[in-house]
Amino acid sequence: SKITIAIDGYSSTGKSTVARQLADWLEYVYVDSGAMYRAVTLFALRKGFISETQFDKQKLIDSLPEVTLEFRKNAEGKAEIFLKGENVEKQIRTMEVSEYVSPIATVSEVRRKLVEQQQRMGEGKGVVMDGRDIGTVVFPNAELKIFMNASAETRASRRFKELQDRGDKVTFNEVLENVKERDHIDSTRKDSPLRKAGDAIEVDNSEMNLEDQFHTILQLAKD
Ligand code: C5P
Repeated sequence: SKITIAIDGYSSTGKSTVARQLADWLEYVYVDSGAMYRAVTLFALRKGFISETQFDKQKLIDSLPEVTLEFRKNAEGKAEIFLKGENVEKQIRTMEVSEYVSPIATVSEVRRKLVEQQQRMGEGKGVVMDGRDIGTVVFPNAELKIFMNASAETRASRRFKELQDRGDKVTFNEVLENVKERDHIDSTRKDSPLRKAGDAIEVDNSEMNLEDQFHTILQLAKD
């Protein structure tokens, strides 16, 4: 029978890569909850609600009803995120969005809206969802909860390589600082701070390749 798998953890622990693989293998729905917070951030940046010098939280909250998000599969079967009908899968992965997403994710009204949608997407289906609060808030009754971890340096190196491959002009230190800053904001915010659920299994993947991670979690899902 189909279960709910919640994968939480710090930034750039490779949660989404393994979550996606697992969902494909199990023929489950995969939801990248971080993509949703990133899409709201892109929306706020485009509207000018957030910048280096200001954050107009109230304007963002007032505009939330117009923020429609959905996932659609591309030709290769990979789910991509659409903001108000526009494919923004690439635009949400920039360093700029990464810099503003954690402050945006502290806003309770944003969280409430996204959590409701996430719960609807997983209802009554086999689902693998990754994020920061999936095992604690979105699906507290998930049958399997994983908490992924790796050293900040390992995580920043992986993320740096990804950004470089994409042609983003960014230094390793900028990426490392961003990873640390997001971890800090995510774990100290008032609403749904990032923490390991009491019944989550911790997986440190510093020394694991993708295959090891996939098999470790698949085995746990079968138990
Ligand atoms: O998973 P990803 O790194 O793309 O998430 C981007 C940011 O979105 C996180 O750093 C966090 O601030 C926020 N987030 C969250 N809750 C989730 C998923 C992501 O607050 N469930």
